[in-house]
Amino acid sequence: MLTRRQWIGGIFAATLAAPGIVRAQASGVVGVNRLWVIRAWDGEQLDAPIRLRSDDGSRNAWMLWSYFWRDVKDDDQAVWIDMALLDRLSAAQILASGQRGEETPIVMNSGYRTVERNRTIEGAAPNSLHCIGKACDFNFRGLTPRQTADLLDAESRLSSGGLGRYDDFTHLDTGPRRRWDRT
Ligand SMILES: [Zn+2]
Repeated sequence: MLTRRQWIGGIFAATLAAPGIVRAQASGVVGVNRLWVIRAWDGEQLDAPIRLRSDDGSRNAWMLWSYFWRDVKDDDQAVWIDMALLDRLSAAQILASGQRGEETPIVMNSGYRTVERNRTIEGAAPNSLHCIGKACDFNFRGLTPRQTADLLDAESRLSSGGLGRYDDFTHLDTGPRRRWDRT
C-alpha cells in the first residue's frame, strides 16, 4: 500500500524534478515514456513522464502516477501501479494520437479500485486486476470504444495482457493474455 505520507513526499519531489524534464520533452504531452490522462469522474488530469533519467526521479514519477490512479471513491487509497501498464498505455496513446493526427488524452473511467469498492460494482470480477494496480478502463478522446479496442488489438506490441470490449470503455490490463467482448 502506498501511504499518504509517501505520496505527498513523492509528489513534492516529482514537481521539483519536472521542469528539466519538461524542457527535454518540449515536443508535447504525448510521447515515449509519457502519459496524458484525464480522470472522467472529476476532470483531474496529469501529463507527465512515467520515468525519468535518474532512479530517484523515476521513483517519484512512478509515485505521481500511482497516486493519480488512486481510488477517489474510497478515501483516495493508492497502491503502486504496474509500470508495464503505464508503458502499454503510453504506447497505445502514441498510436491513438497518430491515428487522430493530434495529441489525444486518455479519459480514465477506472484505475485502482479497493477490494471493498470493487465488491460494490456490478459485473466486476471479485479478483479484478484493478485491485492490484494492473488495469485501466478508459477511452481515447475522439475514438469510440470499438475503434480503441480495434487499434490495440491490431498492435503486436500490445498483444499480451487482457483487452476487454465494453459499450462505454475499453479495459486494458497486464495479466495473462485474454480477450473478451461485453458489448
Ligand atoms: Zn476494467
